[in-house]
Amino acid sequence: MVPPDAIDPLASAPPASPAGSDLCRDCGLCCDGSLFYGVDLAGEEVEAAAANGLDPIVEDGAAQFRQPCPRFCGVCGIYPDRPLRCRAYRCELLKRLERGQVEVESAYAIVAEAQRLAGAADAVALPGEGRGAARQRWERALRAMTGDRAESRADTQADPRWLLAMTAFNYYLDRHFRKPRRHRVALAHKPETMSGEG
Ligand code: SF4
Ligand code: SF4
Repeated sequence: MVPPDAIDPLASAPPASPAGSDLCRDCGLCCDGSLFYGVDLAGEEVEAAAANGLDPIVEDGAAQFRQPCPRFCGVCGIYPDRPLRCRAYRCELLKRLERGQVEVESAYAIVAEAQRLAGAADAVALPGEGRGAARQRWERALRAMTGDRAESRADTQADPRWLLAMTAFNYYLDRHFRKPRRHRVALAHKPETMSGEG
């Protein structure tokens, strides 16, 4: 979750000691659609989420807002008022950093490499296609190529440069950011949301 002081021009310099919010200032992958389709909301959060511009959706009694988060602009635009899931969420890299299982500089290097891979995929995505839409298209393409007839023929004809770039990016996310059981998310039909499990 990206704190608002990310605009600090020194934000890219690794801190002397592990601090999750410092690492998050360089990242934002859990806000921009790279990792999640949406964020679950508790029922009592819906009104505040609407007031904060998160465009909450309530379906079958469950509430969420979709990603890319409408309040993400490189930083969290509502950091003091962000929803509970956003406050609680920690990716696997951040957890390892906080447990001292990864060096601070290594964690920064992993975030920088993830951003490089994301940028490489962005560069060959469709014009105006955001990371959330790109990830959904990539998942459809993989399912189509593995013989899922529910997916359209168009999804088998994606630009191979983009397919390779998205695959490299998502395998890197699998390796460093996602829980192991969420690997191979591309072949699952169920949209992945930021839940309370962190
Ligand atoms: S993906 Fe992890 S490191 Fe990046 S902003 Fe989210 S919690 Fe922080
Ligand atoms: S409200 Fe949006 S920008 Fe802020 S932490 Fe949550 S997902 Fe990220």
